[in-house]
Amino acid sequence: MTRRTPWPASVSQPLVSPLQPSVVYTAQTPDALDAQYEGVTSGYTYSREGHPNAQVLGRHIDVLEAAPNPGTVTGSGMAAVTAAMLATLNTGDHVVAGNQLYGRSLRLLTETLPALGITATLVDPTDAAALKAAIRPETRLILVEVVSNPTLRVADMEGILALAKDAGVPVAVDNTFTTPRAYRPFAEGADIVIHSVTKLLSGHSDVMAGYVAARDAEVAARIDTLAVTMGLTASPFDCWLAERGLLTFDLRFERAQENAAALADHLSGLPGVTRVLYPTRSDHPDHNRAQALLDGKGGNMVSFVIEGGRAQANALAGEVAELAFAPTLGDVSTTVSHPASSSHRALSADDRAALGMPEGFFRVSVGIEPLEVLRDAFTRSVVAAQSETP
Ligand SMILES: *Cc1c(COP(=O)(O)O)cnc(C)c1O
Repeated sequence: MTRRTPWPASVSQPLVSPLQPSVVYTAQTPDALDAQYEGVTSGYTYSREGHPNAQVLGRHIDVLEAAPNPGTVTGSGMAAVTAAMLATLNTGDHVVAGNQLYGRSLRLLTETLPALGITATLVDPTDAAALKAAIRPETRLILVEVVSNPTLRVADMEGILALAKDAGVPVAVDNTFTTPRAYRPFAEGADIVIHSVTKLLSGHSDVMAGYVAARDAEVAARIDTLAVTMGLTASPFDCWLAERGLLTFDLRFERAQENAAALADHLSGLPGVTRVLYPTRSDHPDHNRAQALLDGKGGNMVSFVIEGGRAQANALAGEVAELAFAPTLGDVSTTVSHPASSSHRALSADDRAALGMPEGFFRVSVGIEPLEVLRDAFTRSVVAAQSETP
């Protein structure tokens, strides 16, 4: 069997982006290859180096983020974080980072990068003064997330970007939670934008992908080269699915956010719920900042605390089974997670309590279901938890 059967020629174009899984691309002649490598013509050679589905997806996210240079699509959000770190940091360099970053980002900073001689200081990003105090002469990067997981604190982005500019230190923003619907880091002055495309941008929990873009063209090129060299490339199928998911991102985000704001209010009225965290609610500690920074967009994440301990948490999770009890976020359907037994299990109970995360703490990634379905499911779950004897 040879591969002689040619792809059919067509004067018409497909409406939908074709899925292009080919790893290898043929060229006409060595001269044609030279022209391609020199950028005189454009084409593909080997899919780790780039492929059409990654390119289409990347240009789509570039537009959403108003990226000054084309971003690099990676095989996961962590690959994007890794590429951003390794392209900007060398042995001896120091990073100042948020102390409530995504768990694996924290492990990258505290376990992996120190082995390469890169150190990090973790600070509370709602406190720009603390962040400023952590900057050293060898600080080469500030890494923050705008809304923290799972306590949904809002970073003082204005303060951080201003002090970073004074200190001449670039700022990388992991915009996964906020998404370009609520916050656009480049427009606000950030230097690098990172996404776990796995989450809200794709939206269907069937894609693992990431994205990273840089304001500086040289940094952008270093990130891209690093991603190709280290093999951080995303698969064509994942990119193709992510592009499809992105087409409804705006609609999904708006609906999920409306649901989240309404669910937060509903939860606050249920017996046994001692605390509700939603950035734009008036009882949230960063309520004013959320209104100003996020333009009143509270996003799709809601956290809440119920009375009691593990027994009550088990009862709530068991009853919420109609929704999904799963530690992820950004799916079209609502998922509920329990940080004490999943994302934050490595911390001691005392450390979790200090972060405001007792056993009864739950995080909800709100989806696009009819609001009534969510209200009913949470009412039943909270009641089930309450009737569990302490
Ligand atoms: C999930 C997540 C990541 C990592 O993304 P993966 O696609 O799972 O590798 C990074 N940052 C944030 C804020 C996340 O939520």
